Amino acid sequence: MKAIISHDIDHITVSEHLLRDAIVPKYMARMHVELASGKISLREYILRWSDFFKNKWQNIDELITFNNIHGVPSSFFVAVSKGIGLNYTNNTALLWIDQIKSRNCELSIHGIAFDDPASIKEEYDLFMSLTKVENFGIRMHYVRNTEQTFKLLADCGYKFDSTEHSFRNPYKVGNMWEFPFQIMDGWVIENGKRWQSVNLKQSKELTVKIIDEAHQNNLKYLCIDFHDRYFSHSFNTWLNWYMWLVEYLKQNKIEFVNYTQAITELEKASG
Ligand SMILES: [Zn+2]
Repeated sequence: MKAIISHDIDHITVSEHLLRDAIVPKYMARMHVELASGKISLREYILRWSDFFKNKWQNIDELITFNNIHGVPSSFFVAVSKGIGLNYTNNTALLWIDQIKSRNCELSIHGIAFDDPASIKEEYDLFMSLTKVENFGIRMHYVRNTEQTFKLLADCGYKFDSTEHSFRNPYKVGNMWEFPFQIMDGWVIENGKRWQSVNLKQSKELTVKIIDEAHQNNLKYLCIDFHDRYFSHSFNTWLNWYMWLVEYLKQNKIEFVNYTQAITELEKASG
């Protein structure tokens, strides 16, 4: 089994949310619940205020650097349209798109349109014209999908999608590869709540169980979604969980690849 780690960019600044959505009040409520329940330290609580005043809710550069040191190819999903708490502009995204490209990371789209062919095509064309990238993949924000979504994405021309949550090997929908994913940071650390509900030790135990299940299902690729937003000391459990996970996979001789490399391997194997 190999591992594909990818990162959804849901937030870039704090100000992109002001007067536009309920993300800021939710952030405030969450950090107070987490402090009161002892899930975060006073230091983390203070750092969250500091991020807020620095207007910094992304950790893209820091994450690429960490990944590079550990031999993990960085793969990002960046949005070009807005929806459900995702509110950064194309101009803001472009600064990071340039950075992601210049640091040789894989760049794909964090999709908003999931059920309407015309909106899906519009998003696809906009991403291509903004990024000048051809042959790219997609993961839906909040993994939204209907029975039609994957077919619509394949018809639109996407090279791959990684929205499905299941213990299945990658499979083809038309000319598109669907890469089901098995681990998402929030599913482990929030574990069904809207705030951190487990500690680091529990999050590791939950993760080992998922990796064991992936082995039992003979998965060729373990797909992991970690949000760059949490690669920060203000989300210490999330940060430590991610650093532990990379180390755990390395110790278990699991090689890291990105989606493009995995597709090359899959297509070679299928002739
Ligand atoms: Zn998202």
